[in-house]
Amino acid sequence: MNIGILKERSKGENRVSVVPNHVPALIKLGYTVYLEKDAGTAAGYSNEQYQERGAVIIDNLESLIKKVDVLLTIRAGAADNQGESLANQLKEKQIIIGLLEPYQPHQAFDALLNQGVTSFSMELIPRTTRAQSMDVLSSMANLAGYAAAVFGAEKSTKIFPMMMTAAGTIPPANVFVLGVGVAGLQAIATSKRLGAVVSAYDVRSEVKEQVLSLGAKFVEFDLESASGEGGYAKQMDEAYYKKQRELMKEELSNKDVVITTANIPGKKAPILITETMVKGMQKGSVIIDLAAERGGNCELTESGKTVVKHGVTIVGLENVAAHYVNNASMLYSKNITTFLNNLWDKKELGKINWEDDIVLATVVTHQKEIPNEKTRSWIG
Ligand code: NAD
Repeated sequence: MNIGILKERSKGENRVSVVPNHVPALIKLGYTVYLEKDAGTAAGYSNEQYQERGAVIIDNLESLIKKVDVLLTIRAGAADNQGESLANQLKEKQIIIGLLEPYQPHQAFDALLNQGVTSFSMELIPRTTRAQSMDVLSSMANLAGYAAAVFGAEKSTKIFPMMMTAAGTIPPANVFVLGVGVAGLQAIATSKRLGAVVSAYDVRSEVKEQVLSLGAKFVEFDLESASGEGGYAKQMDEAYYKKQRELMKEELSNKDVVITTANIPGKKAPILITETMVKGMQKGSVIIDLAAERGGNCELTESGKTVVKHGVTIVGLENVAAHYVNNASMLYSKNITTFLNNLWDKKELGKINWEDDIVLATVVTHQKEIPNEKTRSWIG
């Protein structure tokens, strides 16, 4: 079984899907590992490091595709034309695994269907205990939460910890985290470690205990809990979000750094902070918007940019986990190689185990069809 590690082509994508340290285990399991030349260079992993661990370096994509049964990638670039052009080069029965952006139709999916390619999307890993070691979204969200706290501290005009100096006492900064999933919890933990006073809010009231266990305050509003399937939040109507914004306005008025992570899988991010609310915030305060790529939790966020509006610095972070490219690649590599090893029938490497719930949840295209009904509803 030949597997190929693709050199990423999406704009700003420096991660690599498999790091050198995970190559020997793959070879031991019976795979031959091919690396597209320089696939790991931007993440700090040289061709030589891969070679030393047994990978074969291939000069270009065309030759790589000719050799492999399975192609591993971070972002096949489904949303830009890279994905389509890659998919068009793949052959029938080849397999591609990566973050394929399955929540909306892309021409890349048409190409995968036409070519008869079997594809699996790492975004669709279920939130089950068995799948935890394959859960790329959690791995990346954890790094993103850390980055949000660190970037917030960097942009803030106030330091996070309390300091008692001969020139006077500096009070700790007030950090407010909106959305307490994986990223939110890490943002709370990191802000606490840096010495800030932290409060947090989520529409899923069951996260209160987790917030308290990190030593932060849980802010409660008079709103029903919006817990949905699989530990995610469910989408509420506009009247709900309007009430939420009204209740939150006062809470924001004394915060130095606000970190927003609120997300509904497959949907546009909910707007939690309007322009009026920004106007009510302290001058010099900071909003770090981790939902920027999905439209942003703040109305004034510009994805990929830092802007100052009404005296508030608003940072629209994009693909933020990739900032810590070395760690992000390492975690992704562990997730995707575990997924790869779980894909097969226990007795036969290369024979997909279609009885496995993780395989069934993540498949996007197979034999010119979209087998999963839910996925069909997004991209079919
Ligand atoms: P996510 O990225 O989908 O969303 C981030 C947070 O935003 C969620 O906590 C959500 O409730 C919150 N949110 C949505 N709308 C909001 C609004 N209007 N106002 C405030 N908050 C809002 O979430 P995630 O990080 O993927 O995690 C979701 C849950 O799944 C968490 O409880 C996490 O611990 C759990 N989880 C479980 C597993 C597992 O069991 N294997 C793995 C990962 C995550």
